[in-house]
Amino acid sequence: MQDSPAIVLRGLRKHFGEVEAVAGIDLEIENGEFFAMLGPSGSGKTTVLRMIAGFALPTAGTVLLNGTDVTRAAPFERDVNTVFQDYALFPHLDVRRNVEYGMRVRGVPKAQRRERAEAALASVRLDGLGHRRPAELSGGQRQRVALARALVNRPRVLLLDEPLGALDRQLREEMQIELKAIQRDVGITFVFVTHDQEEALTLCDRVAVFNAGRIEQVGTPGEVYERPATAFVAGFVGTSNLVTGEAARKLVGADGTYAIRPEKISLDGPVTDGATVAEGTVAEVVYAGPQIRYVVDLDAGPRFVVLEHNRRTPGDLRGTTVRLTWSPEHVITIP
Ligand code: ADP
Ligand code: MG
Repeated sequence: MQDSPAIVLRGLRKHFGEVEAVAGIDLEIENGEFFAMLGPSGSGKTTVLRMIAGFALPTAGTVLLNGTDVTRAAPFERDVNTVFQDYALFPHLDVRRNVEYGMRVRGVPKAQRRERAEAALASVRLDGLGHRRPAELSGGQRQRVALARALVNRPRVLLLDEPLGALDRQLREEMQIELKAIQRDVGITFVFVTHDQEEALTLCDRVAVFNAGRIEQVGTPGEVYERPATAFVAGFVGTSNLVTGEAARKLVGADGTYAIRPEKISLDGPVTDGATVAEGTVAEVVYAGPQIRYVVDLDAGPRFVVLEHNRRTPGDLRGTTVRLTWSPEHVITIP
């Protein structure tokens, strides 16, 4: 079954009473992919992960792992491991014993246990810290212990449910780089759940964008960002200025729904050939260090966000009239 996809979901549904948490999902994830499930809180990501792991039974549909139907199989019969946001390490056991725990339960001989634990700790760059208790580690190190504990079983698929959610921003960004490197080293399939679009785009080979129990789009980060399939994706993955109705006729020259990314718009820049020009009034200036976000109420109706590098001479633009320009090639048509 080497050629079968790592994971296949067909018509997957899950109801909790009246709530349709997962409303029909079809998806294939390839062997060795770093796959992200991205969506707002409550969109069904964790429920899908739990059905893949076997912690929840689908109301309808099937789950295949490496070509085998495991829809009704128990969690321990599946070649997957899960890393949760809260790590769930045993506080009274040192790092090595935490990592060895599952193997001990399964009766793996001590020497082999030791060797595999050492290798797993090395793969997450925690060599030498095996004797520490979880309380003696930083948040990032604890997260890596949880990862080592999952990797030590050598699953074909690793499921990660918002594993970096508890870390502060800087550590999060460091761990993102680490995770990517670890996945490349071990070569197993990672399914990574997050509500953070930047995290998903940074890490994954492909991403599925969830909304209300459904997948709105599956694609590479570039495809999903540059060619969002729906207005929801355009708004959730990055920021979009959406234009429709009368404003679309004025600003795009056609009926329909369109999106323009804030970084594609220039504020009081030169008017180049073929550029669209729109006047407006600056309602808000949001300072974010290297970048500045301008909120502009266009005379044509909609409110636009413009993102600029911080290289303008300081001065408050609020309340002033400005000219926005963008190239028509940067207008995204929403089907
Ligand atoms: P996400 O992980 O994207 O935040 P979840 O899969 O946790 O979303 O939840 C999807 C929906 O299912 C939510 O409306 C949530 O309240 C509901 N839900 C999840 N688990 C349960 C449960 N055990 N019982 C009842 N409702 C649940
Ligand atoms: Mg969740």
